[in-house]
Amino acid sequence: MSLFNLLVSKTIMHIPGPLVGFFARGYIAGEQLDDAVRVARELNGQGIMATIDVLGEFITNLDQARGFKEECLRILQTIDAEGLDANLSLKPTQMGLLLDRDQALANIREIVARAADLNSFVRIDMEDISCTDATLDFYRTLREEFPGHVGVVLQSYLRRTPADIIALSDAPMNFRLCKGIYNEPRTAAWKDPYVINRNYTRCLERIFAAGGYVGIATHDEKLVFEALRLIEKLGLEPDRYEFQMLLGVDEELRRIIVDAGHRMRVYVPYGESWLPYSRRRLKENPSIAEHALRQMLGM
Ligand code: FAD
Repeated sequence: MSLFNLLVSKTIMHIPGPLVGFFARGYIAGEQLDDAVRVARELNGQGIMATIDVLGEFITNLDQARGFKEECLRILQTIDAEGLDANLSLKPTQMGLLLDRDQALANIREIVARAADLNSFVRIDMEDISCTDATLDFYRTLREEFPGHVGVVLQSYLRRTPADIIALSDAPMNFRLCKGIYNEPRTAAWKDPYVINRNYTRCLERIFAAGGYVGIATHDEKLVFEALRLIEKLGLEPDRYEFQMLLGVDEELRRIIVDAGHRMRVYVPYGESWLPYSRRRLKENPSIAEHALRQMLGM
């Protein structure tokens, strides 16, 4: 890591909000749902699907959870009314998971029920290790009640993930597979990037072998290569998988994948709580700041 990147990563929590906003603006649609709709429509125009996410996590009271639930219902209605090729992503802690587990499940159930009514789909994001068991339990419960309308995220940095796939393979599975973004203890998570990638491919093989659907969520060219290799080897039809990327990240790779005839979905976050999201993105990848700075200075 360069000295600049190390500095950004270590000081990110103290960098003023407006400055973070400057660096992060390409990664967020805007503050309002209308902004996300506009971006999703642009993506649809390029043959790319979207998943819309209202920013907010680790809330501190259940009124906030109610507010986020209402907003998620509004997103689903809007996707339907606007005829967008998009679905919804939500976070369990945004629905109150760490405050009242039953209430969080009830909130997510109401949202997935609405998605089922509208023939839409809800992806339950995966947060840190304190949420993993409950999130997978919620998925298990809801996929039974609303088959085909809910999916969950798995993280290849977790040692447990290959076993989780096997445990969940007793019914149709719909996963987004990513590396994982939180800072987990070594007892729970692989730390070596090479091993995390090996585990990613291993998980992908396992999901494909079990007949599951998978959103291949990565910008890592090595993993894209491995995924394409597997897809070709297994002769998979495009309805068995999609690629997924974050808004504003490596649009060139995104275009290469789309032009090769694979389905692509872009994660479109919006909302007023853009600051914690942006800080996390910058901490994870300080080179965003370097790119933005270079652009500003014309370097
Ligand atoms: P990396 O090796 O980290 O990155 C590969 C390349 O992409 C590098 O060159 C890097 O510079 C570039 N890059 C990667 N991320 C960024 C970025 N943010 N900005 C600019 N450049 C970048 N994690 C979770 O823990 N839970 C989730 O629910 C979750 N959902 C996700 C949904 C989607 C659609 C995607 C794409 C990712 C999601 N993630 C989630 C994040 C994921 O776990 C990784 O932290 C992130 O995608 C970076 O890993 P990578 O596979 O892209 O590989």
